[in-house]
Amino acid sequence: MKMLATVVAGLVAATALTAPAAAATTKVVTGTAKTGGTPLNMRRTPSPTAERVGSVASGKTVWILCQVTAQQVTGTVRTTNLWDHLANGSYVSDAYVERPATGIPSCPTASAPPVQPVEQAPAIPAPAKGESWQLPVSAGLVSGFRTIARPSHDGVDLAATRETPILAAAAGTVIRVVCNVSAGSCDVDGNRNLGGCGWYAEVQHAGGIVTRYCHMVRRPVVTVGQAVRKGQLLGNVGTSGSSSGPHLHFEVHVNAPAARANAVDPIAFLRSRGVTLR
Ligand SMILES: [Zn+2]
Repeated sequence: MKMLATVVAGLVAATALTAPAAAATTKVVTGTAKTGGTPLNMRRTPSPTAERVGSVASGKTVWILCQVTAQQVTGTVRTTNLWDHLANGSYVSDAYVERPATGIPSCPTASAPPVQPVEQAPAIPAPAKGESWQLPVSAGLVSGFRTIARPSHDGVDLAATRETPILAAAAGTVIRVVCNVSAGSCDVDGNRNLGGCGWYAEVQHAGGIVTRYCHMVRRPVVTVGQAVRKGQLLGNVGTSGSSSGPHLHFEVHVNAPAARANAVDPIAFLRSRGVTLR
């Protein structure tokens, strides 16, 4: 949900990572990068000299699938030969990660099944007859879907200015109008220290597709149960909730209700509907 222009480069790296094959669902442990300043490098393999595939800022969350034993590193948190295998497929030295003392499994050996990333998106269904889609705003992409730097970013950020009209990406029915913020109000500008999508609306479309439109400047102009046309005004761009500046955070989910498990890449989804987002 947070807007962060610096991750566009990370998007390229993310697509280059090999996705592990399917395996059993994996419990993930959250940790916090602690470097004392510079970002923590994410590596393709567990080595300080391996290809750098991204980074995470000090103080930010990392999602740890399992640990492997490799080269010893002396860091700001500990001296260790453990490396954390993250949910985005990369590795970071555990020497720079604050995390629970127990509960992180060892990564399977080469002969065992690979670890399943928790953020695996479901397949995008083929369009139904008569579906018609458009962009919710015409504005540049500033942050992609589940990039290396932001593996839990379940949508895209579009750099629309404050008060830009947000339009329904397709015809449907409004199923949710919510203020979602961890503290305070959605009627004021949010910030990165808050959690939540701010003022947002969800529209359900044909075939169980749900679109979500976040960080609106004020309560959406539509109400739950209302039918909307493609291109109909839903609300206006703002920066409510967990947001560092005005933008539209846009999500697409397959099979209502919308949840993390059924989020898909809005760029790929819209492309499948003949709409280009870049
Ligand atoms: Zn976002």
